[in-house]
Amino acid sequence: MSDSALAPVRVRFAPSPTGSLHIGGLRTALYNYLLARQTGGAFLLRIEDTDRDRFVEGAEADIQESLRWVGMDWDEGPDRGGPRAPYRQSERTDRYRDIVQQLLESGHAYLAFDTKEELDAARTAAGDAFAYDAASRMTMRNSLSLPADEVQRLVEAGMPYVVRFKVPERGEPVVFTDLVRGDVSIPLDRVDDQVLLKSDGFPTYHLANVVDDHDMQITHVIRGEEWLPSTPKHVLLYRALGWDAPQFAHLSLILSPTGGKLSKRSADKLGIPVNVAQYRDVGYDPRAVVNFLALLGWNPGDDRERFTLPELVDAFSLERLGDAPVTFSLDKLAWFNGLYLRDTPAEDLAAMALPAVQAKHPDVTLDALVPVADLMRERIAFANDLADFDYFFEDPAVYDEAGVAKRWKPEHSAALVRAYADAVEAAPSFDAETLETLLRQTADAAGVKAADLIHPVRIATTGTTAGASLFHTLEVLGRDAVVRRLRTAADRLG
Ligand code: GLU
Repeated sequence: MSDSALAPVRVRFAPSPTGSLHIGGLRTALYNYLLARQTGGAFLLRIEDTDRDRFVEGAEADIQESLRWVGMDWDEGPDRGGPRAPYRQSERTDRYRDIVQQLLESGHAYLAFDTKEELDAARTAAGDAFAYDAASRMTMRNSLSLPADEVQRLVEAGMPYVVRFKVPERGEPVVFTDLVRGDVSIPLDRVDDQVLLKSDGFPTYHLANVVDDHDMQITHVIRGEEWLPSTPKHVLLYRALGWDAPQFAHLSLILSPTGGKLSKRSADKLGIPVNVAQYRDVGYDPRAVVNFLALLGWNPGDDRERFTLPELVDAFSLERLGDAPVTFSLDKLAWFNGLYLRDTPAEDLAAMALPAVQAKHPDVTLDALVPVADLMRERIAFANDLADFDYFFEDPAVYDEAGVAKRWKPEHSAALVRAYADAVEAAPSFDAETLETLLRQTADAAGVKAADLIHPVRIATTGTTAGASLFHTLEVLGRDAVVRRLRTAADRLG
C-alpha cells in the first residue's frame, strides 16, 4: 500500500525544550510534516516540558524559529492553539494527575517511597542490573509491599513518593508493529515499573506522552530510534487505559562520521554544527538542509537527489524509511548547498554575502558584489565564501610563491605583462572577449605561447594560480585595477 492511500494522519513533533533544536530533531519533524501534508492530515507541535530540571528558557522559541526557517508550518501548537489545546505539557498537569488516579484505582499503578539512597543501594547490591519490576518490587518500599496503614501513615507524614506503573507479572509479551522495523515482541519481565508521576507532582515523559498522543488523537508516532526501548512501556500504558495505541515508526540512528551517535560532543569535535540555528547563522540555504535531511534515512527508490519541500511531500513514503544507521556528512550537505546556491539570483547571493564581505572590506557596495557573485557562484559552497576572494576587493599583497616559482619566468614574464598592460589600457573596449584577443595578440607578437602570458597575468591580478575564467575575472576587476596590478607585479616580481 502506498502512503498516498493513507487516510489523513494526525502526527506530532514533540520536542523537549532543553536547548536549541538539534539537526536530528529537525529530520524527525520533517518526516512527520511530510506525512501530514501528503495525506491532508494535521501536523502538531507539542512542547514536552515536564522535566523542569532540563528546561531551558528560550528553547521553545528557538524550536519554532528553526521550523519556520525551513518552511515547515504546523496546524496546531502552543502558539496557535487548536482543538486539543493546550499543547504545552506543563499546562496539562491536571489531566495527567487524573489519569494517574485512574491507574491507581484500577490497580495498574502504585506508590513508591524509596529514597534515592535506597534505590542506589539496591542498584549496588544487584551489580547495576537492578530493575524495579515484578521480581524486585516486593523488596522495596511501596504500596504493594507495605501494609495499607503504613502507606497511609507515610502519605500523611508527607513522605515524598513517586507513582509507578505496575507491569503485569505474567501474560503475553508486549507486541507492536513498528512501521520501519517490523514486528517487535518484548517479554513482560524485560519491562520495568516505570515512574509515571515524579515526587514533584510532574508526570514523566512516558505518561505525558501517552496521554497526549491519545488525547490529541495522534495516529502515527514517528520519532527517533532512541525511543524504541520506551515503546513497550507505552504500549502497556495504552493497554491499561483501554486505549488504542497509535502506529509507531522509529527512525534510523544518525551517526557521526567517525562512528557512534551524532551527539553534541562528537559533532563539536569534528566541527559539525548540531543546532539548526547554527546552520542558519553560517549561511546554509534552508532548502539544502531540508533536502539533505530528507535523504538521511529515507530514499525515493531511485537515484534522484534533488527535492524541494513540496516535491518531498509528493514523493515521501513511510515504506522507504530505512532502519540502518545513517552517517551524517557535512560534505554532502555542502554539496546540496552548492546545488541550490547555483540557481539563486546573483543579486540575492550578493545581498546574503554583503555583511561578511564588508566585515573585511568595508567599502564594498552591493552593486560591486553582484558581478563577483555571478562569476564565482560555481566555486562557492556558501554565499559568505565570496568574502574569501579578497582579490576582488583589494590588490594582492602577496603572490602565491609556488605559482610564481613555476609560472613567472624572470627572463620574459615582466616584459610580457607590461606589454599586455599597455594593450589593455589602450583598448577601445573592456570585456572578456577583447581581453582574450589582446592577450593572444601580445603573446603572438612576442613569439610565446598564450599560456606563457595567461599564468603570469592571473598571478599578477589575483595573487593566485586558480580561479574562475581569467578574462571574466579581469572584466569584473575593471580596467584600472587590472592595469595597475599588472604593472605593480611586473615591478615587484621583475
Ligand atoms: N520529548 C521527546 C523528545 O524530546 C519526544 C519523543 C517522542 O516523540 O515521543 O524527543
